[in-house]
Amino acid sequence: VSDSLPLDRLRQALPDLRILTDPADTEAFRFDETEYLRPGQPLAVAFPRSTADVQAIVRWAGETRTPLVPRGAGTGLSGGAVAIDGALTVVFTQMNQILEIDRANLTATVQPGVINADLGRAVGAQGLFYGPDPASFEMCSIGGNLAENSGGLRCVKYGVTRDWVLGLEVVLANGEVVRTGGKNKKDVAGYDLTSIFVGSEGTLGLITEATLRLLPAPPPS
Ligand SMILES: Cc1cc2nc3c(=O)[nH]c(=O)nc-3n(C[C@H](O)[C@H](O)[C@H](O)COP(=O)(O)OP(=O)(O)OC[C@H]3O[C@@H](n4cnc5c(N)ncnc54)[C@H](O)[C@@H]3O)c2cc1C
Repeated sequence: VSDSLPLDRLRQALPDLRILTDPADTEAFRFDETEYLRPGQPLAVAFPRSTADVQAIVRWAGETRTPLVPRGAGTGLSGGAVAIDGALTVVFTQMNQILEIDRANLTATVQPGVINADLGRAVGAQGLFYGPDPASFEMCSIGGNLAENSGGLRCVKYGVTRDWVLGLEVVLANGEVVRTGGKNKKDVAGYDLTSIFVGSEGTLGLITEATLRLLPAPPPS
């Protein structure tokens, strides 16, 4: 089977999807910040813009037996976003909207490509605070933070990413979209699926939305 056949099917399914195939273009998406790893040569690099795009990509991947590599900003230090031979790298940089800042409930709902520092600035402008601050905060994405359960210096007082996640929207390997958790503290019935996805390094599903906890901004010290 020629390499172009699966991609033709993807283009048919999602004609507006941005897809890079030229090695000169895909090169920048083969590596993350992990040393001593040899990245593979991806089939292509795709940039979904919506949960529906991600769902269609995952369904296509199942039908064509194409592995997927989710990718945020590519700052990871454990090789999770490194390209695999013949796989489609799915980059979340175009899903970068802060969908809601809910002051009454102290939550923010975001797409996974939002940069950590951008979220911090947006909620800070409303007198609110988002705790997790990996040292890469000016570059890394919330999706990557969730998949790595990242934490920075403030974790000593405020905890790591897992402590700030109330709910997720995730596209599973079969293309099903699931929602875990929710805004309410009492959204606790059943298994704690949110926590399973946090720290799973993209192996259990593609995170397409997250509802995060906020606090009133602490006073300057
Ligand atoms: C200078 C520097 C400083 C750093 N400091 C810290 C630190 O203080 N604390 C810390 O914890 N880490 C740190 N890191 C590591 C890295 O920045 C974090 O792990 C960050 O959370 C990765 O985010 P990213 O958007 O770059 O993710 P990527 O590197 O793109 O991906 C990381 C993992 O997340 C998965 N992923 C990305 N998006 C999704 C999604 N939407 N759905 C499912 N899976 C997804 C990928 O498959 C991969 O497994 C640092 C890195 C650098 C380069």
